[in-house]
Amino acid sequence: MPEARIISVILPLAIGWEPVYKTVDGTIRHGDRVRVAFSGREYVGVVDEDGIQEGGRLPDPTKIKAINGREGSLCSVSGDEIRFWKELALYYMCTVGEVYKAAIPFARLGEDLAAAKADARLEERLGRLREELSKAESSARVKETTRERLRSKIAELIGRKDRDSGLALPPGAEFKEIELTQYQQDALEGSLSGFKAGKTVLLSGVTGSGKTEIYLELAARTLSKGRNVLYLVPEIALSRALAQRVAGRFPGVMVFNSEETPAARRRIAEKVREVEGYMVLGTRSSIFLPHRNLGLIIVDEEHDTSYKQTSPAPRYNGRDAALILSTIHRSNVILGSATPSLESLYNSETGLYKRVILDRKFFSAERPEIRIIDTKAEWRKRGMSGSFSRKLIQAIRDNLAEGRQTMILRSRRAYAPLLQCSECGEVLRCPSCNVPVSLHGNAANGYWLLCHHCGRRIGTVPSCSKCGGTFRMLGAGTQKIEEEARELFPEARIARLDSDVGSAEGKEIVNDFAAGSYDILIGTQIVTKGFDFGNLGLVAVIGADQILSQQDFRADERAFQLLSQFGGRAGRRERKGLVIIQTAQPEHPVLKAFVSGEPLSEGLLSERKAFNMPPYTRIITITLRHEDESILEGWAGTMSARLQSLGGGKIEGPYSPPMDISAGKHLLCFRIILNRDNTLKGLKKNLGLIIERFSAEFKCRGDVIIDVDPL
Ligand code: ADP
Ligand code: ZN
Repeated sequence: MPEARIISVILPLAIGWEPVYKTVDGTIRHGDRVRVAFSGREYVGVVDEDGIQEGGRLPDPTKIKAINGREGSLCSVSGDEIRFWKELALYYMCTVGEVYKAAIPFARLGEDLAAAKADARLEERLGRLREELSKAESSARVKETTRERLRSKIAELIGRKDRDSGLALPPGAEFKEIELTQYQQDALEGSLSGFKAGKTVLLSGVTGSGKTEIYLELAARTLSKGRNVLYLVPEIALSRALAQRVAGRFPGVMVFNSEETPAARRRIAEKVREVEGYMVLGTRSSIFLPHRNLGLIIVDEEHDTSYKQTSPAPRYNGRDAALILSTIHRSNVILGSATPSLESLYNSETGLYKRVILDRKFFSAERPEIRIIDTKAEWRKRGMSGSFSRKLIQAIRDNLAEGRQTMILRSRRAYAPLLQCSECGEVLRCPSCNVPVSLHGNAANGYWLLCHHCGRRIGTVPSCSKCGGTFRMLGAGTQKIEEEARELFPEARIARLDSDVGSAEGKEIVNDFAAGSYDILIGTQIVTKGFDFGNLGLVAVIGADQILSQQDFRADERAFQLLSQFGGRAGRRERKGLVIIQTAQPEHPVLKAFVSGEPLSEGLLSERKAFNMPPYTRIITITLRHEDESILEGWAGTMSARLQSLGGGKIEGPYSPPMDISAGKHLLCFRIILNRDNTLKGLKKNLGLIIERFSAEFKCRGDVIIDVDPL
């Protein structure tokens, strides 16, 4: 009888310790997947080291349960993966189990198992067919048609495997031989010398300056040294053009996003485990593939907020998580952007990163002309027609006449973003979230109300609950702008792109617009993302005030990034473009900087420094939630007192967040501002302990939300 071992098991739960189990199976290793019982349920866990882990509890030895069995059909997790999960959990103050759940999505475990079984069946069938074929080939009595049938069956099954895998090369990919310009060559050398000095490289250069070509060259060099490449992008749904471009050069590239089916995810994970010299192009969750020997991580558009996972835990930023991943693989990292985040600029100022600047457009187009239209002045002069100023209408007509395309940014979707009571001024709010609801639809198909927070749909517009008055529309969203545009430019082919458009349809719209099938594209922030449209003559912002007056210390940084990204779309390739911004605040400092072409970052950085805000400090927010407001206030009082014992940092709160109800629960927040010095780690640890004790005492782990580096 072999001796029983005690193993710690990582469970996909928000528990801060690893329960232990017994096993007599001597072949079970670190990283294997096992089925275990916990609190009356069965989970598939990951075997951690033998014995009890840090923070683990020593149970009564007679009460330790045996594992229920090994889940042999699921791949083991590598030591590098587990190390990465632990580092990430430590940084983002969540449990390793929560990272496990994010890494191998657990809602899909059933599907994952089903996919594994289907795979096994397919392999078995293939094996049998191959055996049959080899027999048939060595026997003279079997007819050639039988052999043919077997061969085509085998080919079909192999084809099915590839189709499932999302690995099939995007059609139309072609390799374009490119010679780097001198500027690019210099930036490449600069990056390589940065890597040699052990630094992360921050590559900044306007859109179209040729950064992607530098990434691809670095990727090629990494692969030729036998190391693997991870290429991160903020969103993949709309970057098919990039996927094709990368596939043109690296036909084996694997494209990965969080929408992959379990079968595809499994297949990609399998290739990542096995293939020598792989490259993955993917969104933030591709950091969780079972990477090996990563030589290079590219983080494109590093400033983009889509890298941040806001919920559930781990609330990680893909860019920062990639840096953690790089320390495990000792990989080089290149961050690229036309508008680097202040965080990354700060890191290059302190010498942690090496900044490489590529400030010359490949197609040496001039900077676009920028016109600011003061909507207040236009109203007075009767120069407005609905949401459009006459000047903008004229510019769009001229642009249409030249056969060039127009893109219009309106940062609010829906038909009318708000409804307001015409009697008392009350804004119509969602009954469950207390956020204003928007009016959707159009004259032809009717209207309905939608809460953008929880998705609640209300069929009819009620009368005001305060005074019985009627609601009227306030502001114009993308749907309304589209309607106005159709009236103003009846001859133009117009499309709209925002999150109300399905992702498949969205992809089609982008491709059709790129192919010239539309003249005008109206959309929300989505349209500012890195598309390369060659024929875009004019980009316009309607109601820039929405973008300029956000209540957040990052508002100016964001607004500047957004305008620069969007403005950068105009006049790519050889022709100069035009940017028009309609605003009621023409004197806004962000607009002034944007017009003058001066970088805003220096001013913003010194402001952040003066106010002790990130990147000079680090922020951690704690959100408490409860159905009962008075219980919540009690909790907040206790938390407030305990946070005083933290031993450092500045503590703000409790305060109500802008959206103070979520899914029927009230919310209260604390903001903890920590200095970036040698006290940081210790304070984070203390904070972790305070929260741990608090959640255990009030049994409220799920209702204490920690966000490290919130955006
Ligand atoms: P960025 O990534 O900075 O936005 P890209 O790498 O996408 O810039 O380059 C913009 C365009 O210029 C692309 O169509 C690209 O194929 C082209 N391009 C860039 N560098 C070269 C080069 N050295 N030779 C030919 N075309 C290039
Ligand atoms: Zn709601």
